[in-house]
Amino acid sequence: MLARDMLYINGLWTTPKSGRFIDVINASTEEVMGRVPEGTPEDVDAAVAAARAAFEGWAATPAAERAAYLQKIHEGLKARMEEIGKLIAGEVGMPVKLATMIQAGSPTATFGMYAKMLASFAFEEKVGNSLILREPVGVVAAITPWNYPLHQIAAKVAAALAAGCSVVLKPSEVAPLNAFVLAEIIHAAGLPAGVFNLVTGYGPVVGEAMAAHAQVDMVSFTGSTRAGKRVSELASATVKRVALELGGKSAAVVLEDADLPAAVKGTINACFLNSGQTCSAHTRLLVPESKYEEAAQIAVEVAKTFTVGDPFAGTAKLGPLVSELQRERVRGYIRKGIEGGAQLLAGGADAPEGLPKGYYVKPTIFGRVQPDAIIAQEEIFGPVLSIITYKDEDEAVRIANNSPYGLGGGVWSKDEEHAQKIARRMRTGQVDINGGPFNLRAPFGGFKQSGNGRELGRFGLEEFLEYKSLQLKQETKA
Ligand code: NAD
Repeated sequence: MLARDMLYINGLWTTPKSGRFIDVINASTEEVMGRVPEGTPEDVDAAVAAARAAFEGWAATPAAERAAYLQKIHEGLKARMEEIGKLIAGEVGMPVKLATMIQAGSPTATFGMYAKMLASFAFEEKVGNSLILREPVGVVAAITPWNYPLHQIAAKVAAALAAGCSVVLKPSEVAPLNAFVLAEIIHAAGLPAGVFNLVTGYGPVVGEAMAAHAQVDMVSFTGSTRAGKRVSELASATVKRVALELGGKSAAVVLEDADLPAAVKGTINACFLNSGQTCSAHTRLLVPESKYEEAAQIAVEVAKTFTVGDPFAGTAKLGPLVSELQRERVRGYIRKGIEGGAQLLAGGADAPEGLPKGYYVKPTIFGRVQPDAIIAQEEIFGPVLSIITYKDEDEAVRIANNSPYGLGGGVWSKDEEHAQKIARRMRTGQVDINGGPFNLRAPFGGFKQSGNGRELGRFGLEEFLEYKSLQLKQETKA
């Protein structure tokens, strides 16, 4: 039992105002594995005041010094990767080996990337008679979800600190324990007091207090579209900058000439990773009508390889979902899929056998799904794939774009140029060509209701910068 009873405010572990706590539940045992403070608006006030007071000094700290702090945090994370992997495997349910690689590895790499980037990032540029400065936006409120908890925290915190911003972080109340490890590492790195603050609690209380706070200059939010809209509304009263990273319903388009087994396998991997709890999961597989039977057969075989079980046993490819709420939501969608007339090719809404405890769901594949069906339109956030057929490429693009979201996607073809042509027509923030791997240096973010921000790489750093132009009397040479 990990009792985290203090908040991290102004460089100190601080007693929270409410005296109440939120239990953190282990996804595979359903037992309480820890607890964190239930923060209040008063705790937010204290954290924002600390961040405000620290901002000017941190913004004026030379980039090379900020880089040195980020490098120390990178090293601190690296030293505790195994512990972080285990912790998140418990909180979220991802198999521990994968969790160590992705859930601990990615945030570690992100801090390292921003440390390096600061050495060459141009904070100034001359344009005609102007000197253009890029200055930190100010106090940043970072609100994050539970699915890749520390990755999403790092994408905001590392970039904001690199930019020269001070930060108040509210991690998801569902998987908050990893954020305390980061706070310990930041403290040990000696970051000046108030530059980073951690307040845990519920979204409608702590999150809303942060979004509405007059002394916060920017809210960087990752989570559901529903909560993102609320954050935008609250932030608008003080015209804060708002960066939203929201949901998705991404499509993988398999072209006529694609390597079908590789395409189906790659798409299922991109759909079922983290038990389907990935915002950019490829949840719609679009295949030509003539290839449907073969694709369906391959998909059923691939689904069988996704053994469901204990994330700590070392044998499971698919762990549990994060919570009972999520499990019931996902099972509800599977029922809706069946009721809606889609073909159930694998899985189903009943519990997987032999797992009496834990929030497990069977890896599920639906065939002949109509593009407008509920399961093809709404974000399910579970291991559920919909196979949809198309007549020609124009129709494939139309179906891929027939979504309120636009976060990820894929195109599969032996002809890469052809695949790129289709990718250019997709209204979405990322498209993986033939299973091209995730890249921390590429911008990540959505079109349409998937959000309006971009994280990671230099694009993620730029998100936390303001432009300022100094008009010089004499024209400077560009
Ligand atoms: P969520 O919206 O319920 O919660 C996300 C965060 O927002 C949590 O910290 C929560 O406490 C807070 N929150 C909730 N209501 C709030 C409110 N009214 N005001 C302020 N803050 C509030 O989402 P979740 O269930 O934690 O995460 C799953 C969702 O996140 C999915 O929709 C997924 O697609 C999305 N997501 C998006 C990305 C991306 O980069 N685009 C990445 C991961 C997850």
